[in-house]
Amino acid sequence: MTDLKPCQCTNLNSVTTESNYGKHKVKCYFCGMNTDWCDTLEDAVISWNSRPREEQLQAAINDLSTQLNTFHQQVTELRDELRLTRNMNTRLRERFNDLVDQQE
Ligand SMILES: [Zn+2]
Repeated sequence: MTDLKPCQCTNLNSVTTESNYGKHKVKCYFCGMNTDWCDTLEDAVISWNSRPREEQLQAAINDLSTQLNTFHQQVTELRDELRLTRNMNTRLRERFNDLVDQQE
């Protein structure tokens, strides 16, 4: 059997396997983090050992958060630009109507 990686939360080798009614899971008996119940012990081990690392997830969250802030800023700028354009459009339409009125 492949070696189990240490627990991601505790970084301890406090990891064990559990079997119940033909299903298997890997579990940290220190913090309780565990895989889903799997059909085979091997699947449970693969699942445990291939869990995304916490740091990678946090880095991805930070990345997405930065992107979200940028998008939010762009939306705000576009909204301001739209407001200015609408105001200008309104003034031009009024001016146009005034000119049409003067022609009549
Ligand atoms: Zn743990």
